[in-house]
Amino acid sequence: MTTVTDQDHATDEPRVASGAERACTTQIDFARAGRVTPQMQAVAQAEQLDVEDVRQAVACGRVAIPANIHHAALAPAGVGSLLDGRPLSTKVNVNLGISGDKADEAQEWRKVDVALELGADAIMDLSNSGKTESFRRRLIERAPAMIGTVPMYDALGYLEKALIHITAQDFLDVVRKHAEDGVDFVTVHAGMNRRVIDSFKETGRLTNIVSRGGSLIFAWMEATGNENPFYEHYDEVLDILHAHDVTISIGDAMRPGSTYDATDAGQIAELIEIGKLTQRAWDAGVQVMVEGPGHMALDEIAANMKFQKRLCHDAPFYGLGPLVCDIAPGYDHITAAIGGAVAASAGADFLCYVTPAEHLRLPDAQDVREGLVATKIAAHAADIAKGVAHARDRDNRMSDARRRVAWDEMFSLALDPVRAREYFESAPPATEGTCTMCGAMCAMRTVNQLMDDNVVDLGL
Ligand code: SF4
Repeated sequence: MTTVTDQDHATDEPRVASGAERACTTQIDFARAGRVTPQMQAVAQAEQLDVEDVRQAVACGRVAIPANIHHAALAPAGVGSLLDGRPLSTKVNVNLGISGDKADEAQEWRKVDVALELGADAIMDLSNSGKTESFRRRLIERAPAMIGTVPMYDALGYLEKALIHITAQDFLDVVRKHAEDGVDFVTVHAGMNRRVIDSFKETGRLTNIVSRGGSLIFAWMEATGNENPFYEHYDEVLDILHAHDVTISIGDAMRPGSTYDATDAGQIAELIEIGKLTQRAWDAGVQVMVEGPGHMALDEIAANMKFQKRLCHDAPFYGLGPLVCDIAPGYDHITAAIGGAVAASAGADFLCYVTPAEHLRLPDAQDVREGLVATKIAAHAADIAKGVAHARDRDNRMSDARRRVAWDEMFSLALDPVRAREYFESAPPATEGTCTMCGAMCAMRTVNQLMDDNVVDLGL
């Protein structure tokens, strides 16, 4: 095992090993060559794990460290689990970006502020209106979080062409542009090929295709009669991603958009293709994450996590929900958090947040706060359940502060300190060392008095 210096990273130059050693560009290249990078060291330190265990997991694709060579501000994070099954902490992503119907760049920066304030591990810039380059580049310059994109969303604006006139090579140019700009991971819906489309058409669905990128590719395939360009030209996509160490997040264009469609032929047919594409990416030295459903009833989630991992060779799994019922618009951060907690405790490594605005409108900054905290709760609850190293430490410190009724300490340990303080200060208690929930009958205070002084002053 050798160590790679910082000079090999965070630079615009390709990371190429000297001498007779195989040229290394990506984290998986370095890991396979037995070389520890600063990114692997950072992940090991953050997760309190042995760096050699992290290196081995990266070499086998079990852990991805999305870290574009151009993203100098990045604080690297790992997604996945070690070879012995020990999981890294579950990561959380925030979606934002300038949308055509509500192109308000200032609002999107407020969302970035909320995401960074609350410790989002990743931000996906889903901008799809006009020239998106300046927002994306500024975000990459500024954010220590992993940055992801869906180049397909950007294709129409970047290329300034109608969908029907876009060529397969045009799509690849958009991917290349995002890679050159410093994006750490890209969602590419390469798995929805002709075989999958045939399966979908044959069996039908209640909600058809609900993936935005998937629906655009489907429309392009139907209009041109061609194969999915990201499937047909997958090797070229991998070459582009490898050159900049962009992790491919293989999108699930056929994710179920309703609990009725979950675990159906379309979803499984695509997953089988994604498993094959996962292996091809690893063979090309490209790091991989695999995306997953969607909407799904609670009792199907654990089994889905198992065969998702099985079919995709234990690649890190990036869950989009799943939303566990379909009738809660306005509260879908809760339906997604319930599903996310179950999914992550059963093997999902990375959760995409869902906000209360899901299915209804573009989220505002407050929606981002609500959605991110809900998803962080799901991720943390799962981390406790699946035994992530030291996951319980903060909970134990919070419980200790609660027993001592140490309010400032409680606020500082809260996932959302601002919200916790606002609630407490909105109703000052009459009895010091309590809150208005129980007032003078505060159980903590009563038992503390008994334990400390053997007297009880209920003040009644
Ligand atoms: S008053 Fe009740 S809710 Fe408030 S700190 Fe005491 S025990 Fe907890």
